[in-house]
Amino acid sequence: MKTIKEPAREIPVRDEVDVLVVGGGPAGVMAAQAAALVPGTKVMLIESRGYLGGNMTIGLPLLGFLGRKGNEVIKGLPLQFVERLRERGQATHHRKCPLHVSLTMIDPEGTKKLLWEIMQECGVKVLMYVFCTDVVMEGNKCKGVIIESKKGREAILAKTVIDCSGDGDVLYRAGASMLYGNEDGNAQPPTLMFSMRGVDSRKLRDAVADHPETYDIDFIPNEFFRPMDNCTFVGFRNQIKKAREAGYKLPVERTIFMTGMAEDEWWVNMSRVNGIDATDPDQYTKGEEICIEQNAEIAKYLKEYIPGFENAYVDRVAPFMGIRETRRIEGEYTLTEQDIFDCARFDDAIGVASYPVDLHHPVGGDCSLYWCPDCYDIPYRSLIPKGVDGVIAAGRCISATHLALASVRVMGPAMCIGEAAGKAAALAVRDNVELRDVNVAELQAALREEGVWFRD
Ligand SMILES: Cc1cc2nc3c(=O)[nH]c(=O)nc-3n(C[C@H](O)[C@H](O)[C@H](O)COP(=O)(O)OP(=O)(O)OC[C@H]3O[C@@H](n4cnc5c(N)ncnc54)[C@H](O)[C@@H]3O)c2cc1C
Repeated sequence: MKTIKEPAREIPVRDEVDVLVVGGGPAGVMAAQAAALVPGTKVMLIESRGYLGGNMTIGLPLLGFLGRKGNEVIKGLPLQFVERLRERGQATHHRKCPLHVSLTMIDPEGTKKLLWEIMQECGVKVLMYVFCTDVVMEGNKCKGVIIESKKGREAILAKTVIDCSGDGDVLYRAGASMLYGNEDGNAQPPTLMFSMRGVDSRKLRDAVADHPETYDIDFIPNEFFRPMDNCTFVGFRNQIKKAREAGYKLPVERTIFMTGMAEDEWWVNMSRVNGIDATDPDQYTKGEEICIEQNAEIAKYLKEYIPGFENAYVDRVAPFMGIRETRRIEGEYTLTEQDIFDCARFDDAIGVASYPVDLHHPVGGDCSLYWCPDCYDIPYRSLIPKGVDGVIAAGRCISATHLALASVRVMGPAMCIGEAAGKAAALAVRDNVELRDVNVAELQAALREEGVWFRD
């Protein structure tokens, strides 16, 4: 590849903070809030887009709040956030679901607004429209990051950094050992979500409940869908088959759509582009282009083959193609699928998750779910990169196998991990210790005080 030499240059230091959070998705906002709630901690959150929430804004339900036994496993700041949204009529209850364990619908715009309010309330300095492109290192210790914006290149120095970029951008540039996808190097495919309105939801629900022989649903008894309650339809394999026979080009084996906040609104999760590495802009661009094409075909298919969609129209398209999986760190402990199936307990637990291993196959258009019998601990060591100090991971870039990530990546656990990472970073600053040396008992006590749920 042709290269050029970039000359070294002096750049301004824009800010100096105690805790710098990179990325304002579900992990990042909880990390920033949790850190800022430790008195005297100066916290900054940087985000490349013009709003907070990351994948909370693309029309997805929050998964993972209830465990297999029906109890709330995600509490603390994430639950407080959902309860505040619910008071505004912008989130539903946690509906139990035989397939996805529980579903909590949220309004994307309400989410963005409330997250702003929370950041202001707890004194987090938010900087939008800046992309973290590099790190400031002293040996193996990260001392801050480099950002790029319309203003140019600037540095932000920080005593601790939390990488909530989803893709592990900070840790990758800090030289941490990163993993990608499965043993063949293939990651779960991305999806561009869109919503349809004008759906006759009563007709849809009754048709599915009354005619299970025609409208086949994966795993869940069809009757589950009759009440006007939040749900995700996964199935209609027969309809996909019929449509394909009629010439439709559909990327998935199953039809997947879920309730929005309005009665006639459904969010469609069906575009899929295998083989895309979203850390490469060429491939990300190609993925978006393919998803736009796929979604046009999918909308036509829904109107023709799914009862109730006859008069539906595309209402909103998510602001970006959602990325399920890219880089993740190799940490001091790698969470495994066996840990999930064994309901593993760890002395350094920072929270509990219960969501199944939910794998959208990197090759082909199908998906498999494997359930945890109850719930499992998330160890603090899975946030700590091997060999690099000053920075930890939170959200979907923590240390987990490809299959374990397919469970712990969803937004309930991502928020829970974010809260723990933020609290750990603030305690590290307070006690003047490395992130890996944080007193875990004190961290757990602080999280319990905030309402985080642990098993006895
Ligand atoms: C199509 C799809 C469907 C899914 N379905 C569900 C579902 O139904 N329910 C569920 O709970 N989970 C679902 N998930 C999983 C879940 O959404 C993600 O795993 C979760 O959002 C991860 O949270 P995060 O905070 O780590 O990352 P993200 O939500 O990706 O947030 C990362 C944030 O960092 C910002 N950022 C990234 N890089 C930089 C940078 N270099 N500089 C500055 N800012 C940066 C981004 O703009 C973004 O705001 C789905 C994911 C996808 C893609």
